[in-house]
Amino acid sequence: MRRCVSVFLLIIFSVRIASITVSGVSSASETEKSVYSSHDNESRKIAITFDDGPHPRYTAEILDILAEHGAHATFFIIGDNAKNYPDILSRIQKEGHEIGNHTYLHRNLQKTTPDIIRKQILDAEQTILELTDQRTKLLRPPGGLYDQKVCDTARSLDYEVILWTIDTKDWTHPTVDEIVEKVEANIKTGDIILCHDFIGGGSTPTPDALRRIIPDLTREGYEFVTVSELIHSK
Ligand SMILES: [Zn+2]
Repeated sequence: MRRCVSVFLLIIFSVRIASITVSGVSSASETEKSVYSSHDNESRKIAITFDDGPHPRYTAEILDILAEHGAHATFFIIGDNAKNYPDILSRIQKEGHEIGNHTYLHRNLQKTTPDIIRKQILDAEQTILELTDQRTKLLRPPGGLYDQKVCDTARSLDYEVILWTIDTKDWTHPTVDEIVEKVEANIKTGDIILCHDFIGGGSTPTPDALRRIIPDLTREGYEFVTVSELIHSK
């Protein structure tokens, strides 16, 4: 089981490496094939993830939509935002979603030292622990930016590093149609979808996109589960 998880994470890393065109690591086609081979199951499990919250309005709106459809998700929380919006964090937990660590201040971990990486992870962990009585075990590096020292530090703290396979780029304020088309045209079993529940610069298209994506994909037989359930399923 442990080996399976490691393979899957490696695949997720590879997707990101391919998408930011660091050469010589992996091709998109190889990655895609590997994702299928790791999660070729009948259950059609997928994971939707939300970064940067909690947000007092948008996280609540997203939680309402998830509840309406019986879907579960993973929220990668910024420690500083958790401190500011503890009630929203508590609601995420109470409604059965998974809480991941998105560091305390959302710094670029590639551009800092192992000591600061460690502090950013542990400060967020401690804040979330105090508010939920639950220790985080999944890390999403801010911006998906990582290197070997980020991975080594995360592993030394017993974290699994989680990236994504479909990026909605919702933080760039695309239209609802653009998000829906991107997700629905590319979705496959085992995918991890990246969204944000805290977006600056005006209104967000994400809730309205979810109002279409979740029922559409549910009708197609997909099941929205937490990242941990996805990566630990066979
Ligand atoms: Zn982020």
